[in-house]
Amino acid sequence: MEKIQYWNPFLETLPREKIRKLQLRKFQKIFRWAYEHSVFHRSLYDRAGVLPKDIRSFEDIRRVPKVEKAMMRDIQSRDPFPYGDALCVPLDQVSVFRQTSGTTGKPVYQPDTWQDWEWWAESWAFILWAQGYRPRDRVFIPFGYNIFVAFWAGHYAAEKIGCEVVPGGVLDTQARILKIQELQATAMMATPTYVLGMADTARQKMDIDPSQLSINKITCAGEPGASIPSTKKRMETAWDAKVYDHSGATEIGAWSYECQAQPGGMHVNEAFFLVEIEDLDTGEIIEEPGRRGKMIITALDRQAQPCVRFDSKDVIEWDDAPCACGRTFRLIKGGVVGRSDDITKVKGVLLAPAAIEEVVRSIDGLGDEYEVIVDKLGDRDRIKLKVELMPDAQERSKTIKTHLKDQLRLKTNLAYLTEFYDYGRLPRYEVKAKRFKDLRKKH
Ligand SMILES: [Zn+2]
Repeated sequence: MEKIQYWNPFLETLPREKIRKLQLRKFQKIFRWAYEHSVFHRSLYDRAGVLPKDIRSFEDIRRVPKVEKAMMRDIQSRDPFPYGDALCVPLDQVSVFRQTSGTTGKPVYQPDTWQDWEWWAESWAFILWAQGYRPRDRVFIPFGYNIFVAFWAGHYAAEKIGCEVVPGGVLDTQARILKIQELQATAMMATPTYVLGMADTARQKMDIDPSQLSINKITCAGEPGASIPSTKKRMETAWDAKVYDHSGATEIGAWSYECQAQPGGMHVNEAFFLVEIEDLDTGEIIEEPGRRGKMIITALDRQAQPCVRFDSKDVIEWDDAPCACGRTFRLIKGGVVGRSDDITKVKGVLLAPAAIEEVVRSIDGLGDEYEVIVDKLGDRDRIKLKVELMPDAQERSKTIKTHLKDQLRLKTNLAYLTEFYDYGRLPRYEVKAKRFKDLRKKH
């Protein structure tokens, strides 16, 4: 591994006790900031009887009320327009508008000041540097830039590092591939679904083998695929490139990243964020590795619309193994393993949709696209998997189906109805794929 491997050598190798001290100090500061500058936060904390002077330890932080997305929606439906009373700066200091994708309801608006925006770029610089981006890289971003935050901050961070950035915004997939080829781009950022979709288009429609192109690293976002081993492997093989995961959200920031050591998880940027993991049943904060819970997160430096103990609904678990890269930032094992909303009981069995993806993508002969539908037949839950069979696998379809059913039962403890479709028949997604549909809620 090369010498200069950290974006911020001081923060990324800080001893644990110093990281914790820094987090506590920063939490005290952002909590006081929110309390003193936002009507919403002040009344929330007053009602709970937790004041800035009360925060002396991590135990005290646990008494600070959580904020949920639904609360932000509610605030923003009221005056002052358009951000409601959670805004901590005068409106004329807001320099950037973004909004959440709205996959789980009405979008939440996200105002950022110029300082916040520089913070976004800085936090992405940690990610890109850890994944091997250097000034010599030519970075192609095959993504429609718009009202959502993806991949704006990645773009600015790549510029900040000194890479050469090619915004592939309004081009269609084939034009993007041709541009990558023409410019010999070395890196790109995209959703896992689109990374696979581009490779597919290159091979099927353009007779181009994406592994022969010059891309040598890919940063993924938006979906958990890059942390699902079989999906990662498909992407790495297709492009002959290293594929890295990162996790972030509009209302939080870019809070974690995989490093070049690829330890089977992601580092939390603990200098910028405080991550707490809460037991889904008891609400207890989990400190030890190996126990899953949902993430409660604080962005320690974000000012316009603070993110203080935000209930992200992301399900994660700590990993205490030291990473070969030498970073002291704590790892979360296997990345974000699901959403607490998505983790559901089917036939009484707890199911995380990512487990289905891991099986589908591990089987040779199956396409990248699939859909899972849960519904009810009378009183009984039924789970159906629709998946595409590759043209060259038609003859083996029976064997593949048996293998698929066995693996699904083994990995998720459930029996599935499986349907094979001809290649190209299932819907393609560019942004957030909606592959898991639970129709039982309508009954
Ligand atoms: Zn590492």
